[in-house]
Amino acid sequence: MAKFVYFFGAGKAEGNGEMKDLLGGKGAGLAEMTRIGLPVPAGFTITTEACDYFFKRDRKYPRELAAQVAKNLRRLERTTGKKLGDSKNPLLVSVRSGSARSMPGMMETILNLGLNEKSVKALAEDTNNERFAYDAYRRFVQMYSAVVIGLPKEELEQKLRVMKSRLNVKEDTEVSASGWRELVAEYKKHFRVKTGKGFPEDPQEQLWGAIGAVFNSWMAEKAVTYRRVEKITGLLGTAVNVVQMVFGNTGDNSGTGVCFTRDPSSGEKEFYGDFLLNAQGEDVVAGIRTPMHLDEMAKRMPKVYAQLQRVRRILEHHYRDMQDMEFTVENGKLYMLQTRVGKRTPMATFKMAVDMANEKLITKDDAILRVKPEDIERLFYPIIDPQLPRTDLTKRKLAAGINAVPGAAVGKAVFTAAEAEQWAARGEKVILVRRETSPEDVGGMFVAQGILTAAGGKTSHAAVVARGWGKCCIVGCENLDIDYEAKHMDANGRMVRQGDWLTLDGSDGTVYAGEIPLILPQLPPAYTTLMKWADERRRLGVRANADTPHDARKAREMGAEGIGLCRTEHMFFKDFEQPERSHDRQLAIQEMIVADSPDARRKALAKLLPFQRRDFIGLFTVMDGCPVTIRLVDPPLHEFVPHERAKQEELAARIGVDVETVVRRVEQLREANPMLGHRGCRLAITYPEILEMQVQAIIEAAIECQKKGLKVIPEIMHPLTLDRKELQILDEATRRVADEIIEKAGVELEYLVGTMIELPRAALLADEIAEVAEFFSFGTNDLTQTVMGLSRDDAGRFLPDYVDEKKAGIFAADPFQTLDVAGVGLLIQWGIERGRATRPKLEVGICGEHGGDAQSVKFCHQVGMDYVSASPYLVPIARLAAAQIVIEEKLAATRTGKKK
Ligand code: PEP
Ligand code: MG
Repeated sequence: MAKFVYFFGAGKAEGNGEMKDLLGGKGAGLAEMTRIGLPVPAGFTITTEACDYFFKRDRKYPRELAAQVAKNLRRLERTTGKKLGDSKNPLLVSVRSGSARSMPGMMETILNLGLNEKSVKALAEDTNNERFAYDAYRRFVQMYSAVVIGLPKEELEQKLRVMKSRLNVKEDTEVSASGWRELVAEYKKHFRVKTGKGFPEDPQEQLWGAIGAVFNSWMAEKAVTYRRVEKITGLLGTAVNVVQMVFGNTGDNSGTGVCFTRDPSSGEKEFYGDFLLNAQGEDVVAGIRTPMHLDEMAKRMPKVYAQLQRVRRILEHHYRDMQDMEFTVENGKLYMLQTRVGKRTPMATFKMAVDMANEKLITKDDAILRVKPEDIERLFYPIIDPQLPRTDLTKRKLAAGINAVPGAAVGKAVFTAAEAEQWAARGEKVILVRRETSPEDVGGMFVAQGILTAAGGKTSHAAVVARGWGKCCIVGCENLDIDYEAKHMDANGRMVRQGDWLTLDGSDGTVYAGEIPLILPQLPPAYTTLMKWADERRRLGVRANADTPHDARKAREMGAEGIGLCRTEHMFFKDFEQPERSHDRQLAIQEMIVADSPDARRKALAKLLPFQRRDFIGLFTVMDGCPVTIRLVDPPLHEFVPHERAKQEELAARIGVDVETVVRRVEQLREANPMLGHRGCRLAITYPEILEMQVQAIIEAAIECQKKGLKVIPEIMHPLTLDRKELQILDEATRRVADEIIEKAGVELEYLVGTMIELPRAALLADEIAEVAEFFSFGTNDLTQTVMGLSRDDAGRFLPDYVDEKKAGIFAADPFQTLDVAGVGLLIQWGIERGRATRPKLEVGICGEHGGDAQSVKFCHQVGMDYVSASPYLVPIARLAAAQIVIEEKLAATRTGKKK
């Protein structure tokens, strides 16, 4: 019989920490903490497989589930010595969601379940606290009505507000027992009006209602959106945790908190957390009250704090990673309610990984595996330009809050998530300002540059979600008085209206008026250390796609070991070193294109030659000692000619032909299918003069640099080859031009001539192509396009449906971003094998966009490429992925006992 329920309690657990997929992160954590002897209330977890069954069978439970829940409930009652709904010694439970991947606040929770008119009295007697018992009851009725039945929260909140104003009190803590009792009665009346039924007294009915609500919340709009945004796929569903309630709201000797074993913002080894005295459950996370720091808790509850510190040490050692823990203190006794690997800022990811490796808590390999590609991307956070005068900043300061996620952000203030999405859709940069955020706001939070809330601590919803994204976030900014209706806020007496510019400094929590210039920061030292460890491990080389000396410099800074693709045509339209000369370049190339004889073309090309030579000198200089792969002209020439009449006239006048000649030539160049047209190396077959000029520029530049003492390693690359003979013609032409120049100069210069593999035919006949080519570079943008028959320029219109789980869900990822290993990958593998069969030393790389995608880089390693080439900002991602795959292979080999 399938097992759908796992028990934990009294030091024993059926599950363990490894069983996240089945028990969810929360269930696995509770089981594991129970096993290692930490104080955890007893309970049981209904598995994610039950949830999967539920959705696959039209929201029906597995047949065995009822009996298994009943059995485990009895066991829970025995363990606790209490009974659900009992009129003497009632057991109360929480019913919480928990999937294998943390989805903060996205799914449902119900607390204090088991209360009814009988058991609430018993609870009042047991605790000798009637006020507490009825407060718990009204919370339960409120949560159940909203979460299980779906009654609007606002109507329930409104009743609470009316009751408080009738009693003339401001805080919940001032409401008396009879106040809460009245509110329960009102809620129940409301329940009957809205549903036509009485509020369920039967605890079994309550329990099954709650279990169903938690399962259903897996498919709620906000949860589905969150998974899409976070790219969470392949999970079975949520587990349901039914756990004995412990109370943080029984008085000033109780409370509830969230803490991290290290600071999730900076990564420092400091105990970090928030604590609310006399509060229950979600109050901290919801960010409704601004909590106290743990230092303050240490003063108020020294014994519990010491115990919490012990738990911190045990859990961090046990899991060998920073933990994010939830706990409750009930009458001075500590209970751990959750532990999970804590989300952290990218900076903290590096710091913790390196620190933990240095502390020998983990290995250097582990440290490398801990970093995700997104962590690297997000390391390059913008900050406020430090050159800006301090006085200027001080004048602009509006308010200060808690620095939840570092980095700075600039945008226009908007006060609702929906407006944030609308404004962002029309290209505006926005800052989302809220009193607090809730899971409904994720769409708006995602598109915002930064997030600002008036309430909440570092563990509030806004902070947790923003941290996961590495998005600048300030919370607990209490001096903001936000008026949603009027769409403005008062910040310490200054008015900020919707659409006004704001700048946030998430590193120190300051909010500024206006649009302040930002710059990118220096990388933290831990980044350098970790990347060094990664470089020591990887086999794969990492080059960059760079067309200009400026890009090349950036690429080297990012750790590139050469250029894997210089798209020479990118130099045709802009002179990056002398922008004022861009127009001359454009005219020279256009003159070449409209020329109607080889001589006229040569004349035009002669004008382009000095520009190209200068470009290459720039690249070789920056890349001193590293290979530079230069690709000869690739796109259809039609892309370079003027299409407007005025520009056509200008060109005609400049080269001394009539405008009709230009118009005719432009017309001639038009193709029905330019991507499969006269492009790539076909251009050099038709117009060998272009090849000659480009090779001349490369070789002359190389000789000049070599003479200056630089080490130059040119690799001349022909694009889009489809046949051995075709490449042979180009290769001979290339070598003829190059060797003649070298000989004339009386120098020795080594260079390679090779080709891109971008067409299925070239990959299939790689053995023949390799007879000529000294290197292959897989151009996987075109190869994906041609293997799949999908236009790289247009497929974006429908590919999202192919990737969306809720739509067609045909591909796991966009094949233009992540290599289609099954199809395109097969051809690559074939091409490498066949190519190397002919030429064992054939150098092989990749220069399509996939060279900067971690998953694709790992594939490139596995098929034995020599290097990947990625755009400069993605170079570190490629370096990291290349190291991770080496470690992953080592681990896999160890696991299968085939240790290398
Ligand atoms: C490719 O096709 O993968 C490639 C790198 O060339 P381009 O993107 O310039 O066509
Ligand atoms: Mg291409």
